[in-house]
Amino acid sequence: MGVPFLSLAPVYDELRADLDAACARVLASAHYILGPEVERFEREFAAYCGVRHCVSVANGLDALTLILKAAGVGPGDEVLVPGHTFVATWLAVSAAGATPVGVDVAPRTRNLDPARLSTAVTPRTVAVMPVHLYGLPADMDAITGVARRHNLLVVEDAAQAHGARHNGRRAGSLGTAAGFSFYPVKNLGAVGDGGAVTTDDDDLAARVRRLRNYGSVVKYHHEEQGVNSRLDELQAALLSVKLRHLDAWNARRAALAGQYLAALEPLAELTLPSVPAYADPVWHLFVVTHPRRDDLRDALAAVGVQSLIHYPVPPHRSGAYAGGPCQPGDLGTSERLAAQVLSLPISPHHTGEQVRTVAERVREFCLPGPGARPAVA
Ligand SMILES: *Cc1c(COP(=O)(O)O)cnc(C)c1O
Repeated sequence: MGVPFLSLAPVYDELRADLDAACARVLASAHYILGPEVERFEREFAAYCGVRHCVSVANGLDALTLILKAAGVGPGDEVLVPGHTFVATWLAVSAAGATPVGVDVAPRTRNLDPARLSTAVTPRTVAVMPVHLYGLPADMDAITGVARRHNLLVVEDAAQAHGARHNGRRAGSLGTAAGFSFYPVKNLGAVGDGGAVTTDDDDLAARVRRLRNYGSVVKYHHEEQGVNSRLDELQAALLSVKLRHLDAWNARRAALAGQYLAALEPLAELTLPSVPAYADPVWHLFVVTHPRRDDLRDALAAVGVQSLIHYPVPPHRSGAYAGGPCQPGDLGTSERLAAQVLSLPISPHHTGEQVRTVAERVREFCLPGPGARPAVA
């Protein structure tokens, strides 16, 4: 039995009536940009995250970029970012005109290592951008402590962490502001691109709201050089429907993750995700590491099990940041992870049977089979 990495078709099957109704409502309203659906979704998502403001934008990269711009981060400024993340974290800093400075991640959490933050701070450092990678909240108490000592802004990259909790508080409410993505495969996904900024800071929210709409509050009066980065009414209406199911979907992911953890512990050379006491993750991805990652991936593919690599090239090694100041070994854990991580299938619509199949195939690869035993005992 093959197991696909992910299929979005079951989401539509599950919610077809409500999603169709939301589409029909927006089409009939003939109001497609910055209307009541966007206002409602922003209210709902702010309440869900436990913050005062949600400002929706066109995608996750814009959410992060506009937070930085709204906070006045720009040319000459440095922003600390993890060495192991999706490249958008770094690109947001560059898009704001500032310089991303890679900091290595901790091997167990695969998130920003707070112990390495202080040494990366220079007089130019103005912000730190922890990522809740794979749905696991970063070590926010430690990171916030360092940020306070050095007077740094804390911007969460929450693009993989809708609903995750850190000591009971939701991702999106743990820093100065947070950027979310509603790219279709995220835990809360649109049927196209989408994103949002969440924050308790009134001024920051107001400035992001202005920046996303041509720098304008009153039509044709442009206070500053803004951009066009808006969530449309259709996406907002669909996201409102899906938001009501997010907690149930995340619980389903957690159940499957628990099943993987039980089935795969302990296997030589295979490292499983570990969950610190402060964290209530939402398992955007279930990521293991193995020193022979590519062989494991091939072995799974040979029996029809799809897996993916998030991410094979760390940002500082990509063409986009080639020739940067990183020395070999500065981001050693990030580089090892890029060579060893493998994402196994997980989603609210995978079955326990499918996860059992994947886990069995992984075990077969990791345990020496009959062929590996000496012929004579
Ligand atoms: C998806 C993602 C983004 C970017 O979101 P888009 O909506 O694709 O622009 C940023 N950071 C991380 C960690 C992501 O996974």
